[in-house]
Amino acid sequence: MLRIENLSKAYGEKVAVDNLSLHIMPGEIYGFIGHNGAGKTTTLKACCGILHFDKGEIFIDGISVKANPLECKKQIAYIPDNPDLYEFLTGIQYLNFIADIFGISASERKEKINEYSELFELKANLAQTISSYSHGMKQKLAVISALIHSPKLILMDEPFVGLDPKASHKLKLLMRKICDEGGAFFFSTHILEVAEKLCDKVAIIKDGKLVVTGTMSEVMGNTSIDDVFLGLEEKDALSIIKGTNSIPLGFDV
Ligand code: ATP
Repeated sequence: MLRIENLSKAYGEKVAVDNLSLHIMPGEIYGFIGHNGAGKTTTLKACCGILHFDKGEIFIDGISVKANPLECKKQIAYIPDNPDLYEFLTGIQYLNFIADIFGISASERKEKINEYSELFELKANLAQTISSYSHGMKQKLAVISALIHSPKLILMDEPFVGLDPKASHKLKLLMRKICDEGGAFFFSTHILEVAEKLCDKVAIIKDGKLVVTGTMSEVMGNTSIDDVFLGLEEKDALSIIKGTNSIPLGFDV
């Protein structure tokens, strides 16, 4: 579904993503974890075709993002960490605008908008302008708009931030349902508990480099995702203090 091969991206001198490769299969919920500035957003934006990258290739369902960005965009949805919506539109105008872009028929969009706005309890607010929405309501609208064209792959940057516990729970159930129907999710999160409970696989990125990836049980072993992630961070801190880089972690970094 998503194949990232040797992706590298620098902003001037700063290497944000360094030779990263990942493969996400249909049906998988794939979590992307890393410290602030690790390169998660850069990777996600490159996958969506909204950020040019220096080296490597990205394929969505076998189609190159570089060679055929429009075809790729038809297959995917991207929910950024801070949705930038057209605030002067009402919620329903925005959803219709997105449905127009993807050429969704009137009956299909009506069905989808009804289903998802009811699910996320936003139906009563769709006639209001987006500028009157709270952060969480904007996040819900961004999620609904992302699902209108039934994307095969959904990329999300910190999707649970701003959502209330009920909406978070519903989103998690919906993610599993979409994956059961053959879709896939690749999303970044700092909430390690969510990653541990929700994800089939996880990738940990550090300073632009992929350091660990695999199924949750492969990555965690007998520990927890917190232990693995904090162990990696700890390793750096201890290395600095001790002047060594050989603290055993139980796996290769
Ligand atoms: P966070 O968890 O804080 O959202 P992230 O893992 O998503 O972080 P990125 O936003 O991908 O990290 O940033 C990776 C690196 O690239 C950081 O060092 C950041 O400062 C740098 N960077 C990101 N965007 C730009 C930009 N437009 N110009 C220059 N440097 C950038």
